[in-house]
Amino acid sequence: MVATQILASGGLWLNLGGTEILVDPGPGSIVQSTKRKLRGDQLSAIILSHRHLDHAGDINVMTEAMTQGGFKHRGRIFLPADALKDEPVVFSYLKNYLEGIEILEEGKSYTLDRVSFTTPVRHIHPVETYGLRFETPEHTFSYIADTRYFEGLITSYRSELLIINVVFLEPHPTVDHLSVLDVKHIIRELRPKVAILTHFGMSVWRARPWVIAEELSQETGVRVISARDGMKFDLAELTGPRDLSAPTQPQQNDPSGAID
Ligand SMILES: [Zn+2]
Repeated sequence: MVATQILASGGLWLNLGGTEILVDPGPGSIVQSTKRKLRGDQLSAIILSHRHLDHAGDINVMTEAMTQGGFKHRGRIFLPADALKDEPVVFSYLKNYLEGIEILEEGKSYTLDRVSFTTPVRHIHPVETYGLRFETPEHTFSYIADTRYFEGLITSYRSELLIINVVFLEPHPTVDHLSVLDVKHIIRELRPKVAILTHFGMSVWRARPWVIAEELSQETGVRVISARDGMKFDLAELTGPRDLSAPTQPQQNDPSGAID
């Protein structure tokens, strides 16, 4: 998916009460964000779930953008320790531009302005990987990054909104990624108000993610949306009474389709 860019791989851009955070700036993040008038120099932080290229490809250029090429000493990067070992994914000359680099560890919490997030559990994936659970003054949401299924996902990511990476249509027991079947089970157990599917592999794309989302909505009773390139989701949508009849939008694209 990254090689074809059928779906973009730029990551998730959060704006939480004015605090802007970029999660997983994969290849094309600088192109996708500037195209949408999202300003790197407004970012407070970049968070990397893990070092794989489809999540980390543009971390250096986005760090340059966040710090205005080093002219502004600002911004933080959060990433697992192994993303800085052996072959660091962040160029060492950029470290002086930043206010800080913080290492993600299992079970730790981190704070940025009025936002806090935790990395509740280490995922099962070929490199050190964490998902994120955010708390803002009004809302909670989780991002389940790349992983194979394990019970800890169910106990770690209860929140109002669940963003989840689904790579496979059918289970592939030998590869550390979630399938649609895994995601159905996770949504049923966690019962968020809304679930957003993203990070589609080619098999999910061919099966049309919006059709899968509609089926999952009917099967779980949770509103499931398939992400598309440039899609915005307003957390205020989580405030109202749960409306199961709300249609999911017709879609053709997704923000971070990627397989690794
Ligand atoms: Zn990965």
